[in-house]
Amino acid sequence: MASLIPPAIVILGPSALATARKIQACYAGSRVHGLQARVAADEAYASLGEHLRALYAQGTPLIVLCAAGIVIRCLAPALASKGAEPPVLAVAEDGSAVVPLLGGLAGVNDMAREIAAALEVSAAITTSGELRFGTCLLDPPDGYVLASLEHGKHFVSDLLAGESTRIEGHAPWLEQANLPQAPGARLSIRISEQLGTGTADELLIHPRCVVAAVLEGDEQTAARVQQALQDARIAPLSLAALVAPHRTMNDAALRQAADTLGVPLRFVETGVEASDSHALLNAALRLPWRRLDGSEPGLALASCAAPVDPAQIGHGRGSLSVVGLGPGSADLMVPAARRALDAATDILGYATYVNMAGPFRVGQQLHTSDNREELQRARHAFELASLGRSVAIVSSGDPGVFAMAAAVLEALDNSDDAAWAGVELNIVPGVSAAFATAAQAGAPLGHDFCLLSLSDNLKPWSVIETRLRHAAEADLVMAFYNPISRARPWQLDRALEILRALRTPDTVVVLGRDIGRPGATLNSTTLGMLRSEQVDMRTMVIVGSSTTRRIPGGPHGEWIYTPRWYPDAKDAVSQTGIEPAKDA
Ligand code: SAH
Repeated sequence: MASLIPPAIVILGPSALATARKIQACYAGSRVHGLQARVAADEAYASLGEHLRALYAQGTPLIVLCAAGIVIRCLAPALASKGAEPPVLAVAEDGSAVVPLLGGLAGVNDMAREIAAALEVSAAITTSGELRFGTCLLDPPDGYVLASLEHGKHFVSDLLAGESTRIEGHAPWLEQANLPQAPGARLSIRISEQLGTGTADELLIHPRCVVAAVLEGDEQTAARVQQALQDARIAPLSLAALVAPHRTMNDAALRQAADTLGVPLRFVETGVEASDSHALLNAALRLPWRRLDGSEPGLALASCAAPVDPAQIGHGRGSLSVVGLGPGSADLMVPAARRALDAATDILGYATYVNMAGPFRVGQQLHTSDNREELQRARHAFELASLGRSVAIVSSGDPGVFAMAAAVLEALDNSDDAAWAGVELNIVPGVSAAFATAAQAGAPLGHDFCLLSLSDNLKPWSVIETRLRHAAEADLVMAFYNPISRARPWQLDRALEILRALRTPDTVVVLGRDIGRPGATLNSTTLGMLRSEQVDMRTMVIVGSSTTRRIPGGPHGEWIYTPRWYPDAKDAVSQTGIEPAKDA
């Protein structure tokens, strides 16, 4: 079965990069990992052995562009049971050879053929059963599962030794394979949803053609489905999906049941209030099906004539990820954000940020809107997600800092639509502009600080003034978001006036503009010298505390930092002119 985790493409030097990028184009969401000191890629690693073992342990498919021997030696200490390992391939760095090494049951040969096709070479397939029969009997395609791997291994050895087989039941992929078939053969392959493990002479393959429908979930749901399957003499591995009415999308017990059963949970709109599980199956299944014994009130089992693709039944639980993109460059986006974007069916956001969130897959829908329509965008996101779509809504920086995450929660808070509460909501953090700017400058946020938005669009200006005054009095470092705009031309000057009354003119100020984006600039000045013309809405303003200082060095000629220690209270009084509060 193909892995759901995108592969890691691992290279040791720049000479492998071109081949790595060609392979990357075959796998959405895959990243090229480069040896730190030698080559810049999407991700850096320090030690090949440690890196490969860590990825292998996480089940990440590995495509390593170096000698097969190196890969084998690196992974030798980590080789786990054959059933659980991810595909591992060695590829010659010039793209001339593709060698599947491990993961025969995880589709490594299919990957080898895909990569070989992209590189226009042929894959070095060594699996004899597969070469001879044109299919891997031990790794059936989607929709079929092997009842017992142990029986399977013997069976394939017998076939390779020259025996023939019969095929009982219907499986188009087997009929197309190149198996030695004979009507009276001792060996047989049986395709059946019936309970069993097969025998040394009979390879049992279950088609995933059974669907269980339930009207609601409780702690007993999985056990009841298992019992019903047992009563109907159906193999649990034949179960393809659990189906429930759309109105149960918020039901955690159902999700738990589907997890326990190891099948996807799909929701179906029945259109009838007091529907029964039979009506649910009718609404869910487009193929001909028959109801199985073992059904009981609120629970029905259906068997279809062919494997069922769960994705074709109703819809899954909708999800909404509020994703922080970081300040701009792909480097500063956290891997979880990239994954959430890759998994989304729909991406919503302000056009500039949606453009930052690519590359997109064919078929991903982009919904761009004006920057100010946050609440409306949040509602739209919930509406799409409650239909079962996987929605990502993007913000620059961190989505929880003056951005979409709060708007999304406001929308949820003000809604009484039960379907919205059923959406799987997930907030993916990002590198906020203050942190990206601070890192460029040094460590101006090295001691206590606050983040303030100078926008009075959604709060009264008087609140901003009070906060500025208190922050200045408390000698906090301040990071200003939304410092100025065409619609808010005077606010920054007024803010500086307040600060100047409470802080000395030599207070260090950092200005970061378009940090992490093309044309980024970083400048420093002082509170006394700062002019509002130096600042626009793409600027982050960091005003230091009394202890923030500069030292020579760094790419910009100076490092700015705020020490972790603080002068004692008496010194603070002399530096800020502010009396510390007396304990009552
Ligand atoms: N959620 C964002 C902030 C949104 S408010 C975050 O966490 O970064 C928008 C303000 O953030 C802008 O007015 C600007 O002050 C600041 N900002 C956002 N991206 C920036 C960048 N790349 N460089 C400098 N400042 C930025």
